[in-house]
Amino acid sequence: MAQSTASKKAAKAKGKTGKNGKPEKAKNGKAGMSKTEPDKAEEAKPSKGRRPGPDKPAPDKSTAAKATKATKPEPTDAVEPDVYTADPVEVTREGAKDWSEPVGPLLRPGDGFDLATFDAGATPGWDGSEKDAERRMAALGEELSELQERLYAEGRSGGSRSVLLVLQGLDTSGKGGIARHVLGMVDPQGVALRSFGVPTLQEREHHFLWRIRNALPPTGRIGLFDRSHYEDVLVAVVDELAPPEELDARYGEINDFEAELAGSGTTIVKVALVISPQEQYDRLHERLERPDKHWKFSVGDLATRAKWPQYTQAYQRVFDRTSTEGAPWHVVPADNKWFSRLVVTELLTQALRDLNLGWPVADFDVDAARAALEETKDQGTTAS
Ligand code: AMP
Ligand code: MG
Repeated sequence: MAQSTASKKAAKAKGKTGKNGKPEKAKNGKAGMSKTEPDKAEEAKPSKGRRPGPDKPAPDKSTAAKATKATKPEPTDAVEPDVYTADPVEVTREGAKDWSEPVGPLLRPGDGFDLATFDAGATPGWDGSEKDAERRMAALGEELSELQERLYAEGRSGGSRSVLLVLQGLDTSGKGGIARHVLGMVDPQGVALRSFGVPTLQEREHHFLWRIRNALPPTGRIGLFDRSHYEDVLVAVVDELAPPEELDARYGEINDFEAELAGSGTTIVKVALVISPQEQYDRLHERLERPDKHWKFSVGDLATRAKWPQYTQAYQRVFDRTSTEGAPWHVVPADNKWFSRLVVTELLTQALRDLNLGWPVADFDVDAARAALEETKDQGTTAS
């Protein structure tokens, strides 16, 4: 990723300080804020959101605010607080392998997508090794972690944006591993994880989206749904848990719901982890062979496995009817755990990058606070 070296040099020359007054480049050698040089504000015309392009000087706050107004997608209720413009997060990727093609678009099910012939063992867009993937994931983890902190900071400062990762997949497809290995790379305070099982009696008294609405991530958080409202058009369709007309109406209701979420500032990243029947057999077999994995096994998993063709059909319908412009599906080959974890890390990082996150501007007078702090410098160290 290209870096705004000009703004960094300017900041360095001025002895700029970063958040909390710490010297810039405080954390993991990453760049901090690059608040604008007032004299350069004129020439700055950011093309997207509040952040300038990588090689453009940063605009001042007022210019940035105007640019935001002009480019913000409509309609939206999302609040974007005043932020410092900031460089993209800097990560070292020397020697780290890159995708041969951007993986997001590659995994979106387009016209003619056929799940029945999908290769769950493939690694589309990646011609590196597993080791290469691990290296890239570690580098992305640093970036993801800083972006998550920026999102959290924004949420604490009046913003209303959040990110929701919706994870679907049959038993043993690796949903738990994504939570541990991908979300595990960021500060747990910034993550809201929810799992959805068979609805409780109380949940069954409500519309199927009721429990989902109650579980949405608070602002500034990355939410992870381990299973989701899609169970209501997967297991519910396969096991005919509601009348056909009601099931049929749910796809449209889900699309409306997700559009509403996107409009109020929640970026939705939808991922379906797809494994082959053979791989599921191997993983279930391992769960039975290892006493430390028995707790993960449920006899019900075999009943679900016996309905493989019905689930394939139900998933196909989900992709056909709910992969929308604002919330597209990503169908991820998941026989190789290292690959599916890398893909999800990549998708999540990209979703956060697209938010053009900065650092919140202090809502107090920093100079006055600094002076007030100085007055207390000897407090407690001298007898009064
Ligand atoms: P697990 O994620 O392995 O703990 O299993 C959770 C179980 O709950 C799976 O068998 C899901 O199919 C089931 N489940 C989740 N949501 C629903 C739903 N809305 N209706 C019926 N079953 C569900
Ligand atoms: Mg299970």
